Amino acid sequence: MHEFGISESIVKIALDKANEAQASKIIQINLVVGELSGFVPDCIQFYFDFLSKETIAEEATLHFESVPAQFRCRNCSTAFHPQDTLWTCPKCQSQSVEVTGGRELYIESMEVE
Ligand SMILES: [Zn+2]
Repeated sequence: MHEFGISESIVKIALDKANEAQASKIIQINLVVGELSGFVPDCIQFYFDFLSKETIAEEATLHFESVPAQFRCRNCSTAFHPQDTLWTCPKCQSQSVEVTGGRELYIESMEVE
């Protein structure tokens, strides 16, 4: 259900930006979604369609660009992409790792007219 809140934010930010640009219509919104963010694009699209009704974003298409998870070992500083749920450093086998990417969700750009 946390897609509802993020969809509200997306609509609000998109409308603010479009307003600033004095646009009359939002055509496409390009979003970056991290692999670990837990957001389901279909759910965001669903809420977006609902929340953008009767706004200039009503007919906007959402485009999702997925970014992979990125981890870093606290022990040897190796950066790696985790395999499934195994969060172990491939170099030194340490399990002391930190997430350095893949949790984000943000508007990368949008097209208006
Ligand atoms: Zn390591």
